[in-house]
Amino acid sequence: MEKFLYNRNNSGYINLLMGFPAPKSFALSSLGYMWLYKLSDTTDGINSRMVCKDTYADIDINKINAISFSMSFDFDFMGVFEILDKYKIPLPSKERGDSFPLIFAGGPVITTNPEPYKQIFDFMVIGDGESVFPKILEILKMDVDKTQTLEHLSKLEGIYIPYKTKTVKKLTERLNNIIYTPVISDESYFKNTFIIEIARGCMNRCAFCTASYINLPFRSYGYDKIIEAIGTGLQHTNKIALLGAQISAHPDFNKVMEYLRNKIEAGNNIELSLSSLRVDGITPGLVQTLVLGGQKTTTIAIEAASERLRKFINKNISEKQIFEAVKIIKENGLKGVKIYAMIGLPNETDEDIHEFILLAERLKKENPKFELTFSFSSFVPKPHTPFQYCPREDTNTLEKKQKYLQKSLAKLGIESKFSSIKWDYIQTLLSRSGEEITPLLIDVYKNGGKLGAYKQALKKFKINTEPAISGYKTNETLPWEFIEFGTSKDMINSEFRRLNKFTDCKEL
Ligand code: SF4
Repeated sequence: MEKFLYNRNNSGYINLLMGFPAPKSFALSSLGYMWLYKLSDTTDGINSRMVCKDTYADIDINKINAISFSMSFDFDFMGVFEILDKYKIPLPSKERGDSFPLIFAGGPVITTNPEPYKQIFDFMVIGDGESVFPKILEILKMDVDKTQTLEHLSKLEGIYIPYKTKTVKKLTERLNNIIYTPVISDESYFKNTFIIEIARGCMNRCAFCTASYINLPFRSYGYDKIIEAIGTGLQHTNKIALLGAQISAHPDFNKVMEYLRNKIEAGNNIELSLSSLRVDGITPGLVQTLVLGGQKTTTIAIEAASERLRKFINKNISEKQIFEAVKIIKENGLKGVKIYAMIGLPNETDEDIHEFILLAERLKKENPKFELTFSFSSFVPKPHTPFQYCPREDTNTLEKKQKYLQKSLAKLGIESKFSSIKWDYIQTLLSRSGEEITPLLIDVYKNGGKLGAYKQALKKFKINTEPAISGYKTNETLPWEFIEFGTSKDMINSEFRRLNKFTDCKEL
């Protein structure tokens, strides 16, 4: 059951399909996508419909004017192609004449590097979409042909029209209007949950982190707006989730937590979840509020076990802070903690890997009978971060590190989880390639999207994977360099040089 928290406007002469490249449960839990859906669903003249991978409405595609897609993960292209294919819409834009709908996309994947999708979409939105989306809808309402529509769109900031736009400035929203769940549903991945964005981006600038670098500067909503939104949410559900890349950095985070705690202690049944916590933001009061809000465990991200490596990646938390955070989590009533980390970081040594075992051993000794889990992924270098230049470590070495950690942690009786090294390799390829990768994406989609399909396509198209996998030089032109971010290439480069001083390993 879906409960719309706004008045819908189901009529309109412009038919827009809002595509989501994953199952509907994920669409309903994606705040960014749902907020844009609400904007279109309340615009006069626009008749918008949600289309997800598992919900193909019975639609006459000839009557559709435009299809938008929201792409949050590198592998989302599979869902985009599946939806287009379902409606028999050719994937390359050059094969789509005026009789086909205008196809466009936005979201973190597009903002970070739109080049792999340059041959697919008619236009793309770079950066925060909420202010430009109503302007796009107004242009669609002009109901003119594709060439004229694109001409109008080209005048908007943040719009990238492939083969036409030379440079594009990333859109950075001022966050005047707080964003929260417009549709509550028991079909959502976060069942019946009212999600409130309290901050965007993160000021910590860990050198690998796109959530921080593509969302600079860090912005947050005022305390009063957050409290008002919580009040709105509680009129419809008791499940409240606060969202942000690093919510404890919100200047009034403790005050918001205190407000929620007082409400729970006054007898309100509130189930609370928080998107992420930083080690140095964990306090007894915060953990107690989480426990009161029904949370059983939490995750802390340490990224690396050695202090030397953490300093190099700009994750400035000390070992003492990690121990203190785990102690606070345990002593204030949570049952366990998941420790998130990465392997294959630039300049990582065998000693750094071994430090995970030493750290786990000491944590276990100090916190017996407390549930400790390690969760590892392998480093995927991302555009627009200081580590955009770094090589991806080879698969064999990473697999050896993974086995060593798995075995050693098991010996200590500690559970560990790992992302797939082979898939992380493909993710690196997708993240840092240019438009040369598009034929591969189409071929992979047509052949089922499994690892074997990538292997076959790499052979077939003889794509030079060298730059995406081995990295770039600081003076090289990068495929995504035409996007103007708040951070210039000079800033990124000088941060990269600054961090290199914190390592006694090889110069990158
Ligand atoms: S603290 Fe987390 S969100 Fe912030 S920059 Fe570091 S990894 Fe990214």
